[in-house]
Amino acid sequence: MGTRKKVHAFVRVKPTDDFAHEMIKYGDDNKSIDIHLKKDLQRGVVNNKQTDWSFKLDGVLHNASQDLVYETVAKDLVAQALDGYNGTIMCYGQTGAGKTYTMTGATENYKHRGILPRALQQVFRMIEERPTHAITVRVSYLEIYNESLFDLLSTLPYVGPSVTPMTIVENPQGVFIKGLSVHLTNQEEDAFSLLFEGETNRIIASHTMNKNSSRSHCIFTIYVEAHSRTLSDEKYVTSKINLVDLAGSERLGKSGSEGRMLKEATYINKSLSFLEQAIIALGDQKRDHIPFRQSKLTHALKDSLGGNCNMVLLTNIYGEAAQLEETLSSLRFASRMKLVTTEPAINEKYDAERMVKNLEKELALLKQELAIHDSLANRTLVNYDPMDEIQIAEINSQVRRYLEGTLDEIDIINLRQIQEVFNQFRVVLSQQEQEVESTLRRKYTLIDKNDFAAISAVQKAGLMDVDGHLVGEPDGQSFGLGVTPFSTKPGKKPKSKKMFKEQLGSSGRKEGAGSPVSGKDLEVSISKTQATPLSKEGDVRDLPLRDRETSSSEPLPLDSPKEEWRPPRPSTPPPKPVAFEDFKNERGSEINRIFKENKSILNERRKRASETTQRINAIKREMDLTKEALNFQKSIREKQGEYENKGLMIIDEEEFLLILKLKDLKKQYRAEYQDLRDLRAEIQYCQHLVDQCRHRLLTEFDIWYNESFFIPEDMQVSLKPGSSIRPGMLPVSRLVSLGEDDQDKFNQLQQRVLPEGPDSISFYNAKVKTEQKRNYLKTMMGLQQAHRK
Ligand code: ADP
Ligand code: MG
Repeated sequence: MGTRKKVHAFVRVKPTDDFAHEMIKYGDDNKSIDIHLKKDLQRGVVNNKQTDWSFKLDGVLHNASQDLVYETVAKDLVAQALDGYNGTIMCYGQTGAGKTYTMTGATENYKHRGILPRALQQVFRMIEERPTHAITVRVSYLEIYNESLFDLLSTLPYVGPSVTPMTIVENPQGVFIKGLSVHLTNQEEDAFSLLFEGETNRIIASHTMNKNSSRSHCIFTIYVEAHSRTLSDEKYVTSKINLVDLAGSERLGKSGSEGRMLKEATYINKSLSFLEQAIIALGDQKRDHIPFRQSKLTHALKDSLGGNCNMVLLTNIYGEAAQLEETLSSLRFASRMKLVTTEPAINEKYDAERMVKNLEKELALLKQELAIHDSLANRTLVNYDPMDEIQIAEINSQVRRYLEGTLDEIDIINLRQIQEVFNQFRVVLSQQEQEVESTLRRKYTLIDKNDFAAISAVQKAGLMDVDGHLVGEPDGQSFGLGVTPFSTKPGKKPKSKKMFKEQLGSSGRKEGAGSPVSGKDLEVSISKTQATPLSKEGDVRDLPLRDRETSSSEPLPLDSPKEEWRPPRPSTPPPKPVAFEDFKNERGSEINRIFKENKSILNERRKRASETTQRINAIKREMDLTKEALNFQKSIREKQGEYENKGLMIIDEEEFLLILKLKDLKKQYRAEYQDLRDLRAEIQYCQHLVDQCRHRLLTEFDIWYNESFFIPEDMQVSLKPGSSIRPGMLPVSRLVSLGEDDQDKFNQLQQRVLPEGPDSISFYNAKVKTEQKRNYLKTMMGLQQAHRK
């Protein structure tokens, strides 16, 4: 909360040769005015009443230059606006006392420019001095006449009230006027142009609508929005500087006005007295209701009057005796205002969009950081994005294969993946539990360990390996846990067997047993089949996809030009799954193809592993039968031996053959087992490639999606409002095809300007441009009229 302040009340006395020295006296500190009425004058005006008044103020400006006035009343207030404080400067006083001169000043003369252009200058100068902040400036110019709102900066040419009447709207951010044009100005000159345009419109309006310009209130507002470039840019400050040229305060009603005049008078008197009421109510801490809505003026200024903003009231008075009555009334108003306390506070806001952007930035940074750590630790291509359905399905499959025993271990990639692995363990296990339960209940409710029929049924189902361990089918259709024929389960694998490539069936498999499968071998197998993209030496740092050797089936390089295909840009981007399908058919088709091929190789290997497992199980069964037969033979022999040839071992031919067969089976079994081990290694490697491809596919998709459905930033910039072209306005550059006259005038101006220093150039430039625009439009309208005739 800011410190408590008062409304600053200043008085400016209009210079005159006929100053009433005997009646108007200033205090020594120039902060008070004493008024003394002469007796004879009193008799005519106020009978037997007070003859002396003393008014305390914050400053009296007598014979003060525009410069001094600005320094005294406006400079601090404008400076504070850049820190986020709203500020309002109002000129109050009777018509002709110098309100407009004080506010706007002479638009013809730089030296006599008023508070408006000086405030704009100060704002832009301060922006230059604050490179640490990104500051935007907007302006609007509102006129309130007989309780109607007019936009003085509406599109040119000014033709009176806009078609859709403006309304004052309140929202949590404050008060704004719906329909009032607010113009972004990037430089002083633009702001001046708008100011001059507004002034011209003000004059035109007074002619076309036959209204007296001193009967209206004019509010020029400068909106400032400052984002820090160095500190957290989520927080930013906004402020408004309202520069108000009030309607003449003279009591018109008294002098018997009629008709239009009376109406104007009523409105003005009312709105000024409501203004006073509102400001006083704001200063009164006990008041919780402030009557803002009583008039358009107070309503429009709701968030900029007293209260939490800086406020300056400048009262313009005449110094002549003849105007003393109005002067007294104006000074009374000023001294009442001076008592009002305010508590200026910064308007701090949070930019939700920026907050999100910052978090995204931070996320990206942390990902980069992770990537660096990963590459230092020789972990490559780790993706930290949330997993999509495909990836989760993949983990599910890994877990199943791990439980089956076809996958020796699940590589740890990152935390997210580990969590998902655990998740999928739970999913798979609970599924299996259910399945085991229901199947057992149905089929093998009671398996006695001596019930050989039941056990052999289980063995027939291929669930036990030679060592009595359970072996599952490695394609994931079932898994070896419990004694259930899982092949009957309804659960589906996400991958389909249809994708097997027949041509791959006979190749790519290492002959012989022993050494683990190497990348080299894979490469050989692939070039044979011309199928795909497994990389050399198993180097995972470079995507295998990139490494693709040219093959006969004209491979597209993965880094194909990005601009090739774009879907027609809809107003809202399609949902990602839909876009993903498009992407896979278009720009991502090559990656997708390689991905699929890798997957099909993987599936083929899995299928082979499954077949090998089945063969192993068959051999095992055969071995068991052989062993059984052998045992049978042995037992017969032993029984026989009880009677004869004690101590001597006699083996008959049958038994001998059985032994040979068993030996052979064991050999087969070992070979197949070795194959299975090799296949598993190969599968793991292929799995890795598939994962990489998927990652690549998804990454490319994301890039493509963002490029395709979101407007690139540079285009947005050019669409931003407030560049020199505004809707409904002709580009200045087109108007400034200077006629010779204009050029002369401009040159003359330049000559005149120079003595006033370079600061004045933008002021005069704006002036010339406004005039050019006017002339141009006049010519156009003239042409139109001539045409009509
Ligand atoms: P208001 O807006 O209060 O009706 P104006 O600002 O239009 O009054 O002033 C009336 C006339 O007096 C204008 O011609 C203006 O240039 C002139 N004037 C007012 N104040 C001053 C001043 N301080 N110095 C010089 N001229 C002034
Ligand atoms: Mg005026």
